Amino acid sequence: MLEKVEEFNMDKVIDEFEEITKDAERVQKETLRKILEDNASAEYLQNLGLNGRTDPESFKACVPLVTHTDLEPCIHRIVEGEGSSILTGKPITTMSLSSGTTQGKPKFVPWNDELFETTMQIYKTSFVFRNREFPIKNGKALNFIYSSKQFKTKGGLFAGTATTNVFRNSRYRCTMKALQSQCCSPDEVIFATDFHQSLYCHLLCGLIFREEVQLVSSTFAHSIIHAFRTFEQVWEELVADIREGVLTSRITDPSVRNAMSKLLKPNPELANLIYKKCMGLSNWYGLIPELFPNAKYIYGIMTGSMEPYLKKLRHYARELPLLTADYGSSEGWIAANVNPKLPPEYATYAVLPQIGYFEFIPLTDNNQEQKQTNKFLIMDPKPVGLTEVKVGEEYEIVITNPAGLYRYRLGDVVKVVGFHNSTPELKFVRRSSLLLTINIDKNTEKDLQLSVEAAGKLLSEDKLEVVDFSSHVDLSRDPGHYVIFWEISGEASEDLLRECCNCLDRSFVDAGYISSRKVNCIGPLELRVVRRGTFQEILDHYLGLGAAVSQYKTPRCVGPTNSKVLQILSENVVKNYFSTAFN
Ligand code: AMP
Repeated sequence: MLEKVEEFNMDKVIDEFEEITKDAERVQKETLRKILEDNASAEYLQNLGLNGRTDPESFKACVPLVTHTDLEPCIHRIVEGEGSSILTGKPITTMSLSSGTTQGKPKFVPWNDELFETTMQIYKTSFVFRNREFPIKNGKALNFIYSSKQFKTKGGLFAGTATTNVFRNSRYRCTMKALQSQCCSPDEVIFATDFHQSLYCHLLCGLIFREEVQLVSSTFAHSIIHAFRTFEQVWEELVADIREGVLTSRITDPSVRNAMSKLLKPNPELANLIYKKCMGLSNWYGLIPELFPNAKYIYGIMTGSMEPYLKKLRHYARELPLLTADYGSSEGWIAANVNPKLPPEYATYAVLPQIGYFEFIPLTDNNQEQKQTNKFLIMDPKPVGLTEVKVGEEYEIVITNPAGLYRYRLGDVVKVVGFHNSTPELKFVRRSSLLLTINIDKNTEKDLQLSVEAAGKLLSEDKLEVVDFSSHVDLSRDPGHYVIFWEISGEASEDLLRECCNCLDRSFVDAGYISSRKVNCIGPLELRVVRRGTFQEILDHYLGLGAAVSQYKTPRCVGPTNSKVLQILSENVVKNYFSTAFN
């Protein structure tokens, strides 16, 4: 294993990436051939009559596009322990639990060693590009990672979130060492069963190793924000632990206590320093560089549904660069950030043609006089290949991976913004499903995000911010109307909140929404302000369902499949306002 660490050669990884991306079309064909050959004996492929053919044309002709729902019967059999070759040649022995925050419940996705390999390939690729611009050496990472429990399904398969499956692989550590991303927390902290205890100890380890910490990271930006918001609340306790060298009694997990006792020694000097730093900060501005003076950057997925957290992240980060991590899912990785200098708002992801076979369903309707992007799921999709996509166009992604997913509609919309050699560079746009629709209106996650951003600007004039938000379509009265839930960082005046409510309503610029609002086919938008801590309660609810904080994404719209979350939100409403924007 150690040999692997030493063998890691940055120039070689860059050269290989350049070679592969220059020949993306051939590499795609080769990748498809290998996937189909390795899995030729799978019942799923056998039934589709490929008869050993591995070329893209036969593949597209025989294999249908599918969604997770289509595959559920097969996945169910695997989960139940039917050990035969159902989706893959070699039977699946482990399942990933995707975050499932959009649907309201986690869903099972097959996992295997090949997916682990692709994960390491993407980590290495983005690392070498990142390290070229922002070199780190012999550093430690304050990495807010949480390995949720791996459990056994009824049929005896291991199941855990994809991140858990990665962290639990013994080769993960080796690779991370080579990537200068050794976590400063011991394994017991990462694998602790209680997330709150784990987070507290991650913070404590970060402070103990503060001089050595060269990067602060997590899978998604949300966890980084969450960690430092928690720091604001527990910092005095952390300082006391460091001063006395004794871990707070709130940490009850014996293995965590034991591991932490090896690191924690009385250090009044460090305690005084951190105390002084915290007292000297104004509203926690610049907290991260103050605590970790040698940190070079902050790293985690910051695009898509993470964009609303950028403002707060910049507040904590001051001048430290924010680098978005790669683009992927429990179903497999897709693309790496090879332009790390771009701020997250402009970030692009270059597809790795060797880690899966990718197709793209065009969402732009070229037949219409005026080009129009179709916000609905296309009914008769005609996907194009990786190297056939066009710059400026939006597509829904279709994945074929080495773990039994063939032509699988991931449900993400991306925009092609350029090419790296012959592989496309993508900008993440949104999840493909519509969030808010009542009548002829079509509003996506992105539309909601923009509306909240516009209204949130009004709050910032009073030094307040939207901590988190969600939405709901209320059809209990006629006409139906949009409900936006806001958790706010402090007390806002009635007038200001009324203004925000009107701004939210006006900021949905979808023509169908505006026209429906004007004739009252959609009722006035309602802003419901919820108590502080409501979104923490929602997070805790998901953790209870087996989700991992590392992969958590706040549900941006709650509907009937998500009744528990709707209940939490509704029970915490403290004020509500109806828009008068269209009166
Ligand atoms: P999960 O379902 O937990 O596996 O999460 C995967 C989903 O997270 C993807 O399908 C995307 O919607 C989102 N995601 C992953 N990486 C990124 C990224 N770099 N930018 C934006 N969204 C992302």
